[in-house]
Amino acid sequence: MLFQNVIGQNDLKQKLLKEVKDQKVSHAQLFTGDSGFGTLPLALAFAQLLFCEEPKENDSCGVCSSCIQVKDLQHPDLHFSFPTVQGISKISDGLISEWREQIKEMPYFSSFDWIKRIDPKEGNPIISVFESKEIQRKLRLKSYQGGYKVLIIWMPEKMNSECSNKILKILEEPPKKTVFILVSANADLLIETIRSRCQVVQLPRIKNDTLSSHLMKVFKISEEKCKSITAFSEGNLIRAMEVAETQDGEEALKDAFITLMRSSYKKNVIEMMNWADSMAKEGKERQKIFLKYTLHMLRQCLVKNYMGDELVQVSTEEADFISKFSPFISGNNIREFMKAFDEAFYQLERNANSKILFTLLCFQSMRYLHKQ
Ligand SMILES: [Zn+2]
Repeated sequence: MLFQNVIGQNDLKQKLLKEVKDQKVSHAQLFTGDSGFGTLPLALAFAQLLFCEEPKENDSCGVCSSCIQVKDLQHPDLHFSFPTVQGISKISDGLISEWREQIKEMPYFSSFDWIKRIDPKEGNPIISVFESKEIQRKLRLKSYQGGYKVLIIWMPEKMNSECSNKILKILEEPPKKTVFILVSANADLLIETIRSRCQVVQLPRIKNDTLSSHLMKVFKISEEKCKSITAFSEGNLIRAMEVAETQDGEEALKDAFITLMRSSYKKNVIEMMNWADSMAKEGKERQKIFLKYTLHMLRQCLVKNYMGDELVQVSTEEADFISKFSPFISGNNIREFMKAFDEAFYQLERNANSKILFTLLCFQSMRYLHKQ
């Protein structure tokens, strides 16, 4: 992967380029941030730069044999560890072709995307002690090409404690010229002793303009639409693409939002239950996007009420609904709304039952809309 194919993140690219140029590469790095910000693509570009035989000023060359090997995910000194469902494969190498396929198809992907790919039953993927033994074995080998050995551990927060302790030992006494790149979506879940041994590379969200022009280029959709998708995607490419990819992606979000608010306002319990039913059938990513979308729309109502139309970031159709709906959102109920939808998002990430979750949101919305 070339740096130029990583979307945005220019400051971090410069920082990593400088590290390599100055030959001050830290042996353990923790790339952290939401997968949709580009943690894995940035790690892959960094690894490619470490191996590149003729790096350019701002990127690896992309044409030397090392670059080609990294691009094909076949470089003999580049190793990967990632979570696997133990019943399917105890070690990462057992799923290496699925891993390569995923990255070649789409290097921006979440752990949900990964589980869906490797296990139709969506079991619980972990990095187990079997993998840590593999890591020890691989890192003991001399590097094939005499340069760096790089190990990318994707989602290290999924290491169980036995594995974490083994990895910690290797991090304490790293083999020569070995670079560990831990790519984490939730570094808070890593044990402190591992975190403290790594140089932290915190990825910020992708800037709205960058994300919006990327969507325009890839999906050939209107600027207005790209901007409104970007407005609630929180700099997260995976989330933005999920909406942009489907023809009526944004339309469907808007309709679901309107149905929720209308039926809750009318206290129409049958409609509310039907709505919760249909939401529960959606995929998890889509459910999460809906919650983010709702938070965004509620905020836009508030912006309209307190600051006027010019600052509202919505499409023309959304503006239509907001102009009628915004009087029902005020300082009186916005905090409760925000709290309920934030909490739902948090619960969804922890595998809460989505039927119960969306039913609860209906009744909460009903209560908050009628709060005087
Ligand atoms: Zn090269």
